[in-house]
Amino acid sequence: MVSRTTNDYEAMKKAGIVAVIEPAFWLGQPRTTVGSFQDYFSTLVGWERFRAKQFGIKHYCTIGLNSKEANNVALAEEVMELLPLYAGKEGVVAIGEIGYDDQTEAEDRFFRAQLELAKEMNLPVMIHTPHRDKRKGTLRSMAVCEEHGMDPTMVVVDHNNEETVKDVLDRGYWAGFTIYPHSKMDSTRMAVVVEQYGPERIIVDSSADWGVSDPLAVPKTAQIMRDRGISEEHIRMTCYRNALDIYGKSGQIKESDWLSRAPINQTELHDGNSVLRGQTPLVEDAASLKSNGN
Ligand SMILES: [Zn+2]
Repeated sequence: MVSRTTNDYEAMKKAGIVAVIEPAFWLGQPRTTVGSFQDYFSTLVGWERFRAKQFGIKHYCTIGLNSKEANNVALAEEVMELLPLYAGKEGVVAIGEIGYDDQTEAEDRFFRAQLELAKEMNLPVMIHTPHRDKRKGTLRSMAVCEEHGMDPTMVVVDHNNEETVKDVLDRGYWAGFTIYPHSKMDSTRMAVVVEQYGPERIIVDSSADWGVSDPLAVPKTAQIMRDRGISEEHIRMTCYRNALDIYGKSGQIKESDWLSRAPINQTELHDGNSVLRGQTPLVEDAASLKSNGN
């Protein structure tokens, strides 16, 4: 969400999205100092959480050193020192995204170090699987998890496709699918995967980055599933409940967070700053929020 606009938040709310889990990831521009990571992590647990709340969406995140930037070894070592401080903050539901990009030695080293951190902190893990050599990278990611004694029920293997889903489910992991408008996985293919494999441990997630992507991909995929006759129960599991179950193991996310959320009050400030740019602030009153069942 750090690369999306407030229009996106408004559209997401309108489409029925109640909460987001934002993975710490790569920003396009490689970071050169540890301070850039520190400010980024602070944004995820601070400003972005506040900004989402101003539009009625609960914000959670994962904290981790992404695989691409693990290749700057000197910097990666400094980032590793920071991670425990941020991974313990409110609203952090996993260590992630971590794993392999080019499957280099440095990526392997920091992937393993972060698996150990997740175990120490008793947090779930979100794994980014590589776009090149995906199947090999996915199998290797799971083998490394097993070498480190990870419980597969604490691990989401993300960016799956038809090539990887069976292995991931068979080995007991959660299988995430990131839906993109033009690449990787699209909504119709996603629906076919759910028809074929059922809803257990499958998680549909939106791409929402600085490239061509779509933060409404989850509700759009849910609609496509509905049009194809997939049951409401299976839609609810893959587009909502499963993510809540696995990331809920962090103790940092629960349904009551949004079922009884505080009213939106856009006059609130975060470190002296608001999201207002001259418009009339939206201030909900608690009574109408309750009567809407919202
Ligand atoms: Zn990723």
